[in-house]
Amino acid sequence: MTEFKADLHCHTTMSDGSATPEEIIQIAKNEGLSGLSITDHDSVDAYSIVLDLAKKNGIEMITGVEFSAIQGDVTVHVLGYAFSHENPIIQAFCQKHHQRRAKRNRAILEKLEQHGMPVSEEEILDNSQGPKKTIGRPHIALAMIKKGYIKSIYDAFNKFLGEGKKCYASGESFTVEETIDIIHQANGLAIIAHPHLLRNRPILDQLLAMPFDGLEGYYANFTPEKNKRWLRFAEKKGWLVTGGSDFHGSVKPQIKLGASTVSKEIFDVLQGHYRLNTNA
Ligand code: AMP
Ligand code: ZN
Ligand code: FE
Ligand code: FE
Repeated sequence: MTEFKADLHCHTTMSDGSATPEEIIQIAKNEGLSGLSITDHDSVDAYSIVLDLAKKNGIEMITGVEFSAIQGDVTVHVLGYAFSHENPIIQAFCQKHHQRRAKRNRAILEKLEQHGMPVSEEEILDNSQGPKKTIGRPHIALAMIKKGYIKSIYDAFNKFLGEGKKCYASGESFTVEETIDIIHQANGLAIIAHPHLLRNRPILDQLLAMPFDGLEGYYANFTPEKNKRWLRFAEKKGWLVTGGSDFHGSVKPQIKLGASTVSKEIFDVLQGHYRLNTNA
């Protein structure tokens, strides 16, 4: 009997991962995972493809999504779990994100043009290794590599696309509170994604005062020492502690699917919610 391990954070070609939804299920099986949640940026489109496939492969799934939100002028990622992927509120919110991303991507492309690195809208779509639904900066970075402007995704973010760099555009987005509310309207659980990436303590304090259900305490290649800080915060709040690898495939090759996982106890809490919402 192998140990139960569930990875609750990964990306597919429906957003900026390099593995298709079908491939993710195969990788999960190969890595010996028993449970999985795909958390594409602003998309739940993987679920109509993978739910049956996961079942056939003996992998238990709960729905997930990673929404980009703003708190002041800081980007905050909010994970939503255990809703029905057919929920119209979630679907409409994903749609709104795609519209705001289209506008924002155009603003970034304008800046690239001004800096002598023209990239067309078609070219950022051209890089899709599958039916990409959420287009973001990694797709723009891939197009920049293809056109010979830069050598790596790392370079693209470091020199041009990262927050505050010369071709960065934040665009408009939805607030963290609006995002939590949407997830709750769909009876999902709202979780602060990778809180250690919030360098700004006042922002963290503001988030800790919001009606989240939990935080992501296990992440990527974290050591147990690093997890402890987040376990303490969660315990104080009576919150869930979720975790996952944030696997993106070749976009972030150093992180493997299953690099961080949660136990059956945690998975069961989320799955309980999921079953209530889907009669699964
Ligand atoms: P966007 O959603 O368009 O704002 O792009 C943000 C995404 O880009 C993140 O979710 C990461 O997957 C990816 N990303 C952010 N910074 C980097 C980086 N330095 N190198 C590679 N990928 C990055
Ligand atoms: Zn990403
Ligand atoms: Fe994230
Ligand atoms: Fe992520």
